[in-house]
Formats: sequence, structure tokens, C-alpha cells
Amino acid sequence: MSEKPFRRCRTFKYRLHPTKHQEQALTRLLSFQRELYNAALEERIGVWKWEKRSVTFFDQCQTLSTLKDVRPEVLEAGVTLCRGTLQRVDRAYAAFFRRVRRGETPGFPRFKGAARFDSLEWGDRSGWKLTEEHRLRLLGVGVVTMNYHRPLAGTPKAITVKREGRKWWVSIRCVDVPAQPLAPTGRAVGLDLGIVNLLATSEGQLVDPERFAKRGRERLALAQRSLATKQRGSNRRARHVEEVARLHRKVRNQRSNAHHQLSRRLVNEFDLIVVEDLRIKNMVRSPKPKPDPSDPSSFLPNGAAAKAGLNHSISDAGWGLLLSRIAYKAEEAGRTVVTVDPRYTSQRCVVCNHVAPSNRVSQAVFRCQRCGHEDHADVNAACNILWAGRAQLAVASVG
Ligand SMILES: [Zn+2]
Repeated sequence: MSEKPFRRCRTFKYRLHPTKHQEQALTRLLSFQRELYNAALEERIGVWKWEKRSVTFFDQCQTLSTLKDVRPEVLEAGVTLCRGTLQRVDRAYAAFFRRVRRGETPGFPRFKGAARFDSLEWGDRSGWKLTEEHRLRLLGVGVVTMNYHRPLAGTPKAITVKREGRKWWVSIRCVDVPAQPLAPTGRAVGLDLGIVNLLATSEGQLVDPERFAKRGRERLALAQRSLATKQRGSNRRARHVEEVARLHRKVRNQRSNAHHQLSRRLVNEFDLIVVEDLRIKNMVRSPKPKPDPSDPSSFLPNGAAAKAGLNHSISDAGWGLLLSRIAYKAEEAGRTVVTVDPRYTSQRCVVCNHVAPSNRVSQAVFRCQRCGHEDHADVNAACNILWAGRAQLAVASVG
């Protein structure tokens, strides 16, 4: 058997402009699929409770045909759409158990109210089609106008249609996307992903990809505070809920755009990009327990809660998202991305290799206690990261 050929994937997102009639049809599909989602979740919970047996995605797909007799409307838009919904239940379950295994305390997958169910997934190529005029034909909805603002590449494989506020979008997943190699630049860079929403490069640049979203975040905070004062169930509150959701989306989009621009710039400029392994980084961040000297059985506060908040803000900042964007753009352009263990990168002197916690004088300042080398602490860390990445590549090329 030959190896499975490598298929480069990309997702392209376009705005949809459904007519009033089509919008009603889409909303109807959402409500049927929500019903299916909740029923599938209920089945999984019930079977586990009464029969101590788990129901798989495949089990649930097989029972889909029984809907023909009891609830034929749900199958109207095709079985692919229904399978897409069952897949979502399956993903929610898998994510829940993954987090449990990691020792976290995630919320159990929940039943979705109408406000919480806003996307439709077609996992394969039936039930929808892109027409030659770049419009989207959906079974049960019709031909929907699409704002084809940039060309697709590769072969469309699956789609997700999503409602965000009053807008509709389609994400088209393509495979076999052709590579677009860039000419080599002969340059390499290390990136230190900071705590205070700052990214430092080994070339001494400090970038704040969150800068653009700052205004939006402030307005969001204001709107959330004002929402808290509105009476439950009132019209005024409902309007505010919508406004808060809109601002959330706006902040998310601004962040996403900033990350796209930053990752594009890095991939254009550098042949080799070295980044930290975020999993290790987050692990290292959790502070050591500090025993209480007067009572050996108890511990003094060590700022764990504050650090937990910190970790939260890291995930908020979406470093992972930035890295994945760097990774796929780099791959498409034929660039190399290396991931390294970030331990000691903030304590090591890049000039003489002396490692000591005291080298880091403050949050921002690094001063080597042996050779006196001084730099911005994050830039020094970024240089160490680049160095570690080069070392890793050298080892790989020898071995
Ligand atoms: Zn030194």
C-alpha cells in the first residue's frame, strides 16, 4: 500500500446574501438541526445512564434513516447535513473527554437553545454546489448569492453555513490547495510570545497584535456593564444582548485580521521561523507551591489564581491561533517553522550562555550577571528561541 497522499487544506469564508425567502428556509434548517443535535445528545446521555454503554457517531448515523417515519422534515435537506450535525455532537463529546483526561473541569456538552445554534455543516459534497457564477446552491434553500471577494483554490470538499447576528456566511473547506512557494530571503527569526499581549522578535521588534482591538474591547466592556443593569426579559435587554454580541464579533474580527497581517508579514520576510511550544510554556507558567513556614501542612498564596487569569488572557490573545496561521501560510510558501521548548529561554544570556533567574532584572529588562549583556528581556528570549531552533535543525540534519 502506498502512503496516503498529502492534501493541503484551506478554508475560505464568504458572505452570503440570502433573500427573505431563503433566509426563512435557512432558519428552518437551523431549527430542525438543532432538534436533531439535542436529540442526539439526549440519546447519548440516556443510553449511558440506563445501559452504561456509549453511543458512537456511527451508531447515530445509522439510526438517521428511522427519522424518515417520525420526522421526515429533518431529512429534507439531505442526510449529509444531518450527519454534519451528529458530527458536531461527537466533537463536543470528544472535546469534553479530552479536557477531563487532561485534569480540567470542563462543562458537559449542553443542549442548545435557539440562540446557541447557528451553524449548518455539510461534511461531504452532497446537498450543496458552487455554481459557475460563484453562487451557492443549497438543497432545500435554493441558489444563494455569495460575495466572492477572493478566488477559491483547490477542490471544495465541505461547507459550513453560519449565522452571525443578522449576517450569513459560508466557510468552504478545500483540499489539494496548490503551494505558492516564495523566493528565499536568507533570513531567520525567533518569536517570543509575551504575557502582556506582546510579541518580540529576535531582530528586536516588539509587536502588539492586540493594539487594533483595544478600542473595540473597551466598548465591549462598557456594553457588558450596561447590559448587567437591564431587566431580564425586557426588550431593552434583548437589544443590548444583540449589541454585546455584535461587539464581540467585531473584536474577534479585528484580532483575526491583525493576526492574518502579522503572520503574512513574517512568512514573507523569513525562511525560518522558530516559535515556542505553547503547551510547555503554559505548563511552566503555573507557579510553584509556596509552603507556609509556620505551618508545614499548609501553603501560602502563590498567586496561582492571578496566573490562572494570566493563562486565560494568553488563550484569549489567541497565540495558538496566530501560530496556526503562521504554520499554514509558511507551509504554503515553502518556509520552515520549528517549535522549541521555551524553558530557560528567558533566563539564558544569548551572548555567553549563562543561565540564571537573576539575569532577568524585571519584566522588561535582561541583564546578564556574568558578562553584563543587556537587552529587552523578551528580545533576549526570542534570540534564544531562534538559537534553539537552529540547533534543533542542525541535529536533525546530522541524524
Ligand atoms: Zn552573558
